[in-house]
Formats: sequence, C-alpha cells, structure tokens
Amino acid sequence: MKFERRALGPKDVAIKLYYCGVCHSDIHTIRGDWGKIQYPQIVGHELAGEVVAVGSSVSKFTTGARVGVGTMVNSCRVCIECQAGHENYCLNGNTQTYGSKDKDGTITQGGYSTFVVVDEDFVINIPAAIDLAEAGPLLCAGITVYSPFRRWSISPGKKVAIVGMGGLGHLGVKLATALGAEVTVFTTSPDKINDAKRFGAKEVVINEKGADFSKLKHAFDFALDTVPYKHDLDRFIPLLKRDATYCRVGVGKVVDSNEIGQMKLVLYRNAFAGSNTGGIQETQDMVDFCALNKIKPEITRIPMNGIDDAWKKVIDKQARYRFVIDLGGRGDGNKPTRG
Ligand SMILES: [Zn+2]
Ligand SMILES: [Zn+2]
Repeated sequence: MKFERRALGPKDVAIKLYYCGVCHSDIHTIRGDWGKIQYPQIVGHELAGEVVAVGSSVSKFTTGARVGVGTMVNSCRVCIECQAGHENYCLNGNTQTYGSKDKDGTITQGGYSTFVVVDEDFVINIPAAIDLAEAGPLLCAGITVYSPFRRWSISPGKKVAIVGMGGLGHLGVKLATALGAEVTVFTTSPDKINDAKRFGAKEVVINEKGADFSKLKHAFDFALDTVPYKHDLDRFIPLLKRDATYCRVGVGKVVDSNEIGQMKLVLYRNAFAGSNTGGIQETQDMVDFCALNKIKPEITRIPMNGIDDAWKKVIDKQARYRFVIDLGGRGDGNKPTRG
C-alpha cells in the first residue's frame, strides 16, 4: 500500500529505510494479542537506513548519515522519566514507532516501509563498524536485553541465566558475555546448543517437560527471561541466589498472567521484575558498545514478500535468530558515515 509520512518539521529527519528487523512484537500487535488495533497498521520497530533530508533546526544529523530508529519516535520530554533519559518509561506515554497516536493525530506506522520521518532526538547513530542490515535488531532486541543488564549491574563474575534463545535471547548471551558474565542458556531447542556456545554461553540446559534443574539450585545472580509467551516460571525461581532477580522481557498475550508459586520468591528473598526496552541515550550507548566489542545479531535477510513465511518461522521457533527485511534500497550496508 501507499501512504504519506508527515511533512518534514524543523526538528525532523527523513530517512530512506534499507532494512527492518522482524520482532515478535510485530506479530503480537497485528494479531491483537496486546489489545485492539486500528487497521491498516504497518509494523516494524528495528529500522535502519540513511538520512536523505533534514529539517531547518536539526543539529545531530546531516544528509547521508547512517541511522536507525527503535521502538519509540517521541515522548513528552518534560516528565521526570524523560528528563532522566528514560523516555521508554515516559509518564505521559511515549509515541511508539507503530500503533501510537502521533502529534498530528494519525496512528504511527512502522518500518516495514521504505521511508520514515522522525524527530532527530529519537534517531540513533549507527557507527561505521556496524553493517546497516545488522543494526536494526539491536534497536529493539539489543536494547531490551542490554538495559536490564545495566540496571542489575551485570559484570565480571556474575552468573546469568538466559531463558529462551531467540531474537532477544541470542543477543542477551552475546551482550552478557561481553559484559564479563558467565552465561547459562535455557532453551527448548536442542539444536541451539552449539550456537549458544558459539555466542559465549558456558553451559546450555534443555528446558523440556520434567527436566531436572536441581544441580543449578541457587546458582544465578540474575535471570533474564526472553520467552514471548506464558510458561512455567516456578521451575526457574529456585535457581536464583539469595536476593537475585528474575526479570521478564518477553511478553505473551495480555490476558496471560505470570504465575509464581507463593513460596517461591519468599524463601530466598528473590525479586520478580520486568523491563521494557531502554532510553535513547542508553540505546546509543548499547550500539556503541556493540561496535566496540564486535557484537552483532545473527540475521537472515528476506525480501518484503517473504514476511508471511518469516512470521510463521518466528512462531515455530525456526528463526536463526533474527529475520531482517531488505526493503529494496541500495542495501550495501557498509557505507561509511558521513553525518
Ligand atoms: Zn521489538
Ligand atoms: Zn515523559
């Protein structure tokens, strides 16, 4: 379909999109798992491309800059969360890259498209060391796992459990390892064992019905759960050390609850937490950290018309590990930064 982006405002940059990552959130949104949506809705919040025009008072980017956009395109800027750089927790509700009401009253449309107009404050600079095709998945999947790692001070010597190794989880293994942690992966897919080790995991545990985790009792300083649907959490809480936190970043249907047995958290003073993406500065920090540490997502490039098949594979746990739509631009991916 054809649609029009808003006219370029003074603080806006126009971006020609070359790539967009495929996130499980896209699927949840379109299917109405997270509430009613207004169609037509274009999803995609892992955008990467090149600046082709800038508004009159744009100061951070010039034409030709390699850039990306993640899950947000605006926020109130004045609440205490925005002031502290936590635009993702804006108290007045930020504007999501798709499915949010924009300031002109229209519903935002995401990155499964060839062009976008975004306020420069919500645009991320992509360093030359990162291929544009590999930039998008960092901007939702990457920041979603990086932010809790920083919040819970993941550092050398910490033992971290990553539950679920898909788009988010595989970046979780790489990032936690780069931060110095010792990582154990819990996966339902035995064929992911070698990959997990290649990404840096020390140990891989198959999470199957009736699996015995007893030798890992009280082994972990932190657990990050990336599974995007309801699953049995009771088996994981006893694996935490005293005072350790179990943090969910994957979310299933809104109607599903996170149930934990009443005794589970009490026994070792454990905490159950959630985390939702990260702020803009933190996202830039994460991208720069990835450039410095040569961390990149494992991607499969697909054409736009391959999206139905890709979504099916994501649901069937067949993604290895992130599909990225080639939006048919030049797509050379390694253009040096000019902005
Ligand atoms: Zn996402
Ligand atoms: Zn705010």
